[in-house]
Amino acid sequence: MNTFEFDSIARGMVVVAHADDAEWGYSGTVAKLVSYGVEMTYIICTDGSKGSDDPEMTSEQLTAIRMEEQKNACRVLGVRNLIFLGYSDSLLEPSLALRKDIVRQIRTFKPDLMICQSPLRNLTDSDYIGHPDHIAAGEATLSAVFPTSRDRLTFPELAGEGLTPHKVTELLVGDRNYANKWVDVTAHMDVAVKALLQHVSQISNKDVGKHLKDSRANIGESVKVKYAESYRSYVFS
Ligand SMILES: [Zn+2]
Repeated sequence: MNTFEFDSIARGMVVVAHADDAEWGYSGTVAKLVSYGVEMTYIICTDGSKGSDDPEMTSEQLTAIRMEEQKNACRVLGVRNLIFLGYSDSLLEPSLALRKDIVRQIRTFKPDLMICQSPLRNLTDSDYIGHPDHIAAGEATLSAVFPTSRDRLTFPELAGEGLTPHKVTELLVGDRNYANKWVDVTAHMDVAVKALLQHVSQISNKDVGKHLKDSRANIGESVKVKYAESYRSYVFS
């Protein structure tokens, strides 16, 4: 049976370091949220200007290509709003400037649900040690959700812009090692793959769709559904 795990959610926001991170991590969940009428917003922290081995490619060209690819992925998923913060790729830090930029977006779009990357470096998982930009984006987002976006006296200049404090209801951190919430994305897997395939400049392997499905099938096994995505969920009272 297909159930919806986010009954009282009207607006959602995903914050990630790079164009394509959200599709790799959360596209099934995002497709499901959109199908249930949730208004989704993506915040992409960096300009994606470093992700190419092509010696002919410039950072400026790459940034433009990746913005277009992310727009296409959002169109496939039905993500309503897409914001690029424009920080330099591979140099992202969990700075106060980044936190303030994320708070500005939280106070603008007022999401009930936030999804972000893990602020932890994983040293125990296969051959992947994590990307510093992902860790920085995760840390800055957690700090933006709690406590900064709800506190009127932090960054008071935002209140001057008319951006009043906002309290997020639920936060999902994309870290499978600490998962306590599983989302059944079986009915949305094809859309999730189609969205990922929009990131043409980042795809070198033809089997990328199969790889995404296999990873979701692997997560699904533990909760006895065909495809799932898992998170550490925090619900704030
Ligand atoms: Zn990334």
